[in-house]
Amino acid sequence: MTTDVIIVGAGASGLLCAMEAGRRGRSVLVLDHSMEIGRKILVSGGGRCNFTNRSVSRDHYICGIPDFPVSALSRYTSEDFTALLDQHGIGYHEKEAGQLFCDDSSRRIVDMLKLECDRASVRFLLDCKILEVRRLDGVRGPRFSVAADLGSFESSSLVIATGGLSWPGLGATSFGQKLARGFGIRVTPLRPGLTPLKFSREDAEHYSQLSGISVPAAVSCGGTRFEGFILFTHRGLSGPAVLQLSSYWDGKSPIEVDLLPRIDVLSILSSKRGSRMHLHTLLGRLLPDRLAKLWCRLSCHSRPLNQCSARDLEEASHRLHHWEIRPGGTEGFNKAEVTRGGVDTRELSSRTMECNKVPGLYFTGEVTDVTGQLGGYNLHWAWASGHAAGEVA
Ligand SMILES: Cc1cc2nc3c(=O)[nH]c(=O)nc-3n(C[C@H](O)[C@H](O)[C@H](O)COP(=O)(O)OP(=O)(O)OC[C@H]3O[C@@H](n4cnc5c(N)ncnc54)[C@H](O)[C@@H]3O)c2cc1C
Repeated sequence: MTTDVIIVGAGASGLLCAMEAGRRGRSVLVLDHSMEIGRKILVSGGGRCNFTNRSVSRDHYICGIPDFPVSALSRYTSEDFTALLDQHGIGYHEKEAGQLFCDDSSRRIVDMLKLECDRASVRFLLDCKILEVRRLDGVRGPRFSVAADLGSFESSSLVIATGGLSWPGLGATSFGQKLARGFGIRVTPLRPGLTPLKFSREDAEHYSQLSGISVPAAVSCGGTRFEGFILFTHRGLSGPAVLQLSSYWDGKSPIEVDLLPRIDVLSILSSKRGSRMHLHTLLGRLLPDRLAKLWCRLSCHSRPLNQCSARDLEEASHRLHHWEIRPGGTEGFNKAEVTRGGVDTRELSSRTMECNKVPGLYFTGEVTDVTGQLGGYNLHWAWASGHAAGEVA
């Protein structure tokens, strides 16, 4: 079968790309090894899909070339996506920090994209195992041949939208990254992002008793800081602020936790210096009791405040704002919402996502070395980069 465009991957990016290319009158074939399209969209945002954010900018992404995402993001904005939802009468609402979620199920978004693809005459082959991809030199320019268990296909454009490595249970594979390497295209190191951090073995002995406690805090490493809730689990730390930080963690350095951000702890402690109240009792008014007690036991000697010197209080306050924890690792790809690293953006056109070395070959979405923060930015990158390729492929 010969077609203008073959897209491998019927996830967020592949579907948006297929819709866009099909609307331009290109014949489009989408291949996916899963039985179902858009599986990650379906689980995203706890089933309600945080599909974009009202403020999307390059600052919300980690990428080898920080300006790389700008062109695609500026040509496909959050308003473009919400306009599509409006046309289909799909309700959505804003949660904190500009995050947009569906009013009901993420299924509405998958159905909308499928309908748009059907209108643009896009064909789908699901449950299709890809065996080999080759580049052929034809008289009218290069072509791609894709051999699969369901047949052999040829096209002038090939879009790889096979995503990252996270959540293998939903069909994630390293197909795209391996294919890139096979074509001599560089791939930056892959590691889990937006993932819980595990305690080291020694810390787990102490901190696992805090399991279930969630507090507003600020966490930082290597000059990057996030404020938000952190959650103690019996294996480590999770919660939005920790997930955000995990994408920036180098895998070995300690992270710093400010347990009482924006609170002048020293003034509060100093104001009670004449009191017989124990330090942990006072901290128990600012933090969950279990956390206050354990923190005092491990980080300073809790005694009545009238027995603490000014220096003792300064130290306690400093430690509360700069509690150092050295994680033992991350929870890995099984629990990561996203994959850090991917097809090196130096190999791609930022306008079209086409490979500089292999004309006609495109990489879009999470398979590229563009990683969004928590808050709808990863799906937005999938839409925007799929749109950029769909305009030209
Ligand atoms: C639990 C969870 C929750 C998330 N929540 C959010 C959220 O609320 N907001 C947000 O912005 N982001 C969220 N993300 C991240 C977001 O879902 C992804 O970044 C985004 O879906 C990536 O889109 P993609 O099209 O690049 O890849 P994917 O959506 O992963 O699509 C890749 C497609 O390629 C197919 N494929 C893979 N390998 C092969 C192969 N060898 N042969 C054929 N087909 C193949 C897969 O079956 C899949 O259909 C979440 C991720 C997870 C795991």
